[in-house]
Amino acid sequence: MRAPLLAVTGVSRTFGEREALRAVDLEVAAGECVALLGPNGSGKSTLLRIACGRDRPTTGEVRFDGEPMTEDEVRVRARVAVVGDALDHYPDLTVRQHLELVSVAHGVPRDRIDALLREQRLTGHAGSLPGALSSGQLQAMMLASALLRPRDLLVLDEPEQRLDPRARGRLADVLRGEGDRGGAVLFATHQPELARVAQRVIALEDGSVVADGTPDEVLAEAGA
Ligand code: ADP
Ligand code: MG
Repeated sequence: MRAPLLAVTGVSRTFGEREALRAVDLEVAAGECVALLGPNGSGKSTLLRIACGRDRPTTGEVRFDGEPMTEDEVRVRARVAVVGDALDHYPDLTVRQHLELVSVAHGVPRDRIDALLREQRLTGHAGSLPGALSSGQLQAMMLASALLRPRDLLVLDEPEQRLDPRARGRLADVLRGEGDRGGAVLFATHQPELARVAQRVIALEDGSVVADGTPDEVLAEAGA
């Protein structure tokens, strides 16, 4: 059997006395779309940060394509695109300049920038600075930046937050589109409807995995 693209094994994370994650196992196969579902404080963001190498587990390990996961390595950064829960950006660069920066940094042609701006309904804001954007538009800019770069795994932390219903519909299309191009997705969400886009749903409660199965199985159990 091929090793999974991402393998999180026995991962715990404590902050002082607080156990944010308890012995979590999670695998994502190449091309697979996996949703993490759970209430506020259940450990979704902590797990995603550890899964993409931005934070280290207290115990346990994370492997990406069979090798230890770390964001310090170009090998990993070149293949994992992340939109975390903080919308990091440069206040003095326009929306288009953010995308141009990503294209230069990752060596991808600029000719997809216009199409991505259109898809994210940002064409009219291409020359705007982040401070002039709504939080939904800022989120859309971060998503466009992630979609511009090469990736085998896309990690998104509650990407539906701040989006209006139409933008949420487009987000579901983006998640499906990743699978069509053979890319894997791991995303945290609050929204059962969005979790339905995934092939597998993992439910977290108080830092532990309480369900892992198809959306139908897990959402029926959660009464959603
Ligand atoms: P979720 O994303 O599901 O809302 P988080 O992963 O953000 O959950 O948080 C899980 C738990 O870990 C919460 O109790 C939170 O307060 C705690 N936590 C997360 N990050 C930190 C941190 N940097 N320092 C202290 N506690 C943290
Ligand atoms: Mg969170």
